[in-house]
Amino acid sequence: MSTASPVGSHRVVSPAGALPQAADRLDPHPEIAEDEVRIGVERLNLDAASFRQLRTSHGGDGDAVRAAVLDIIERRGKMHNPVTGSGGMLIGTVEAVGPRSPLGLKTGQKVATLVSLTLTPLRITDGLARWDGRTEQVPAAGHAILFGRSIAAVLPEDLPEHLALAVLDVCGAPALVRRVVARRAHGTVAVLGAAGKSGSLALAAARDAGAATVLAVVRDQIEAAQLRGTGLADRIAVADATDPLGLAQAVTAELGGGADVTVVCVDVPGCEHGAVLATNTGGTVVFFSMATSFPAAALGAEGLAADVEMLIGNGYVPGHADYALHLVRENPHLKDLFTARVGEAR
Ligand code: NAP
Repeated sequence: MSTASPVGSHRVVSPAGALPQAADRLDPHPEIAEDEVRIGVERLNLDAASFRQLRTSHGGDGDAVRAAVLDIIERRGKMHNPVTGSGGMLIGTVEAVGPRSPLGLKTGQKVATLVSLTLTPLRITDGLARWDGRTEQVPAAGHAILFGRSIAAVLPEDLPEHLALAVLDVCGAPALVRRVVARRAHGTVAVLGAAGKSGSLALAAARDAGAATVLAVVRDQIEAAQLRGTGLADRIAVADATDPLGLAQAVTAELGGGADVTVVCVDVPGCEHGAVLATNTGGTVVFFSMATSFPAAALGAEGLAADVEMLIGNGYVPGHADYALHLVRENPHLKDLFTARVGEAR
């Protein structure tokens, strides 16, 4: 058994010198090094922005989407969508643990990987034959590799697996929102894409962290109806997050001004300028969405002379998995919303 780099650089095929996330191609061979772990894959969770892009570009043809996903994994040795740059995560069973792995995992445990599929060596062996190409969650067989410096969570036994997978996929959002909102006692918070998975968790975290007013911004009246009566938001506005002026107007009408914290949880591109315009001077925009263009955000804010802090939604915040699962367990409305969305997506 060989020793390896804890950050996985020994698995990079090209370009030389890159870390796995930036690599074009990884080597997913199944033999593990001393500090690696091999997972028997059971289900992938494609990141929402990636799945939407694939579905849209193939006109909703599930067979074509399946072929495209297989092609990406085959070519890249990982599920790294070259258009959106995003991936997702997976659940599976621990098959082998190297003697020097620091992750504390044991053979036979059911786990969710909490590092992106964009850097996880992956090989699929069943041609994704059980997937119709129409859902973010993908039944799959094959294996994935975790490095010394990876993260995984043992799946909770009290929640259905597909629900836990969906919660853990976006668990970075509530933890980051809690941290940012807690810093600003009694601030106002607007969540864009609030009826979605990361959006609804962000609402719950904002409330939990003591926000004065929580505003949910949703795409249409159907999503507004899903949130009404849940207590997750104080106010609900229907607006297109890609329409900067319309969005800013809707937020101002509800909050009597901009938001102190705006959280972007939408899965489509083009929300940067609206989010900046909808945020108060000195406020913070959290761009959790992987469909965000960071140049558009930075240059847009500069062009609007907007003095706002902008945070990239780092998918890792210590304690993020436990916090997200805690919110879902504690709030039956949030759990119902999630269950309906995940069920819908299956
Ligand atoms: P999701 O459950 O699909 O939620 C997205 C929500 O945005 C949906 O309710 C969607 O409505 C809504 N939406 C779409 N277009 C809109 C528009 N123009 N105006 C207003 N709302 C709109 O997605 P998710 O799983 O929460 O993921 C959200 C984003 O987080 C994605 O971009 C994903 O890539 C990203 N993400 C980031 C990380 C990280 O580590 N930073 C990790 C995981 C995911 P409809 O359903 O009606 O379209």
